[in-house]
Amino acid sequence: PSITIGLTGGIASGKTTASNYLKKLGFMVIDSDHIVKELYEKKEVIDLISKQFDVLEFGFINKKKLAQIIFKQPKAKKKLESILHPLVFEAIDVLKHQAFEHLIFIDMPLLFEVGYQDIDYSLLIYTKPSTQLKRLIDRDFLTESDALSRIKSQMSILKKKKLANHVIENEKDILDLYQNMNTYLREVLS
Ligand code: ATP
Repeated sequence: PSITIGLTGGIASGKTTASNYLKKLGFMVIDSDHIVKELYEKKEVIDLISKQFDVLEFGFINKKKLAQIIFKQPKAKKKLESILHPLVFEAIDVLKHQAFEHLIFIDMPLLFEVGYQDIDYSLLIYTKPSTQLKRLIDRDFLTESDALSRIKSQMSILKKKKLANHVIENEKDILDLYQNMNTYLREVLS
């Protein structure tokens, strides 16, 4: 039987950095953002979405337009999620069942927001809010107020910290993150 770990974090807390490290070490990481990206290119999904939203352009979904619609209308966001989430979960399930690995990570930024349950443990890559803000500003060249409003649009990292089964600190440099991850991996593998 395999162990499935949901890897999550807040915006700019270091999920991608952590997930790249796991991949480099040879672990299987299922990337839910990548699954979503691929779904948007499937004819059935394009049909399902364009039936509900006026976003079809040259046979493809105009994602910018769709993002604007769901940003303004919470109901539309729910509708879109009700189309996409079951398909994402199904795709994850297929990948999981095809895997030979004993340990499987699922990189899912919105694990807690979505309430994805099909994991054994949740693992949070954590930075305190002030570090998160600084890294977000530096990475995306944002003003402080833009960065803050992006952070506020997600569940707070402090709340995620309470929900997570395991927390990996990403407060210092990258090498320190890798060391914290090694410690964690030694624990789950033992
Ligand atoms: P998002 O949810 O926005 O995609 P994320 O959680 O995947 O973000 P990363 O992109 O991995 O976060 O990290 C955010 C930024 O912080 C990146 O520019 C990354 O290089 C940097 N970063 C991550 N960890 C550290 C660290 N320990 N020290 C310094 N910079 C870091």
